[in-house]
Amino acid sequence: MIAMQHWVGSRPASLSLDQLRWGPSPQHAIIEGLQFAVQPGEMLAVVGPNGAGKSSLLRCLYRYHRPTAGRVLLDGQDLWTLKPRAVARRISTVLQEPVTDFGLTVAEIVALGLTPHLGGLAVPHEEPVLAALGLLNLTALAPRNFSSLSGGEKQRVLIARALVQKPDLLILDEPTNHLDIRHQLEVLALLAELPTTVVVSLHDLALASAHADQVLVLENGRQVDIGRPLDVLTPAAVRQTFSVATTIDTHPATGRPRFSFHLPL
Ligand code: ADP
Ligand code: MG
Repeated sequence: MIAMQHWVGSRPASLSLDQLRWGPSPQHAIIEGLQFAVQPGEMLAVVGPNGAGKSSLLRCLYRYHRPTAGRVLLDGQDLWTLKPRAVARRISTVLQEPVTDFGLTVAEIVALGLTPHLGGLAVPHEEPVLAALGLLNLTALAPRNFSSLSGGEKQRVLIARALVQKPDLLILDEPTNHLDIRHQLEVLALLAELPTTVVVSLHDLALASAHADQVLVLENGRQVDIGRPLDVLTPAAVRQTFSVATTIDTHPATGRPRFSFHLPL
């Protein structure tokens, strides 16, 4: 499905956290004691209730927040010892904040993803741009004005922009929020298949369990658990963190474990 030749030359990164703590001041920790590793090419899903610290953690991973204690290591190197441009070449993001589009077309927005690799602005009809548009089923929308798109279409454009630079680490904050169910499944399947290392925050535990190699559960800024979905998203653990009941059975179509959730009876 993926045009793998597009990924030649990418070097999936390893990511590790060493007692990471961050907050707006040294006394006030929003996230604390985070300690885990993601292997090259793995996909980690970060889940947790609203306010658990998911976005704060991701901001530390793309070198926006400087840790107040501990470290984030990309291939063993502290992010804050690397130059910002070196980080921009290796890490790309899909964030929740609305983007200013400056009246650009879809293809021009996607081409912006190449900027860290170039001296100047990228050209929207270059091969990597066309490949990224194709991966996200956006080819027909390429000449359209970004501002004229629906929320879900915009979200796919931002994912294409993040992919075009062949990141070694891709970080996405709730990327499925505006997507219809078909595109949610397509985007998660695509992320799982990419050779790059992926860290993605998700609200949907069923999507996380179906696609991620590892799931990190955050609660009140602390790491409750991390591991394979079936080991971490146990009914008792999900009830504890999310206050919902879980049923796990075998999906009749895919044969994989199926998680469904309901209010405790
Ligand atoms: P999530 O993404 O899991 O919903 P966030 O990381 O956005 O959680 O926020 C976690 C908590 O930290 C929230 O209570 C939020 O209000 C608070 N918070 C986030 N950023 C800041 C900041 N810069 N200053 C103070 N509080 C913050
Ligand atoms: Mg958030």
